[in-house]
Amino acid sequence: MRTVRLDGDEAVEVSLADRDGCEEMVREVTPARRWRFDPASLVAPVRPGKIIAVGLNYRDHAQESGMALPERPLLFAKLPSSVVGPHDDIHLLPEVTQLDYEGELGVVIGRRARSIPREHAWDHVLGLTVANDVSARDAQFVDGQWTRGKSFDTFCPLGPWVRTLDEVPDPQALPITTRVNGEVRQASDTGQLIFSVPDLLAYCSRYFTLEPGDVLLTGTPAGVGLGRTPPTYLRSGDVVEVDIAGVGRIRNTVRAVGGRS
Ligand code: ZN
Repeated sequence: MRTVRLDGDEAVEVSLADRDGCEEMVREVTPARRWRFDPASLVAPVRPGKIIAVGLNYRDHAQESGMALPERPLLFAKLPSSVVGPHDDIHLLPEVTQLDYEGELGVVIGRRARSIPREHAWDHVLGLTVANDVSARDAQFVDGQWTRGKSFDTFCPLGPWVRTLDEVPDPQALPITTRVNGEVRQASDTGQLIFSVPDLLAYCSRYFTLEPGDVLLTGTPAGVGLGRTPPTYLRSGDVVEVDIAGVGRIRNTVRAVGGRS
């Protein structure tokens, strides 16, 4: 497995700087090595040390969930072992009856951040990626354990790459769309966030250090299966696509699995 920078239809090998106080996370490998880019070869673009996710961070999603708007960011952890690539399968275990999607903008940390002010928050971001915060609603709500219900293996498709900030004119005005079998289920834009990316990074970094490679999932807009009437959950064979204009698109198929591997 290699880390590459995309340059037109070529992939150029880069290395990731070490995690200790690095000024930049990605450096080109010398001598430069290049290959023709093959999208099918992509795996998740980062292996996060941690994934911090935010609940109810779009006004329309808070309303469809029947919950009050949060006064502070509602944080939860998603375990890094849930990460899969942009085209990998999402596993549906036999005991899960309420498998749901959440299309989300992912923010990848590039520089260590501890107690940073909002106005410097973007300086700590390497770039943006596309995520699906897959959720087993039955496991999430039966006893209130969000981390378990959102951390099953394969519940965090990420990718297809990290789009560095210099390529994104305004990260807070990006259309985000989720489709299931081609049908639009979520359509919003990142300008609808209740807590903006700088708000979230400043808030998180007050309590714990954000390290290069960590991923912040910024919340999902309205239109999740749970919010539909009647609720509509994912079934084996369904194809879920999350598309963020200017960032990229991931496409994952739901597969029923036996539960042991
Ligand atoms: Zn979410």
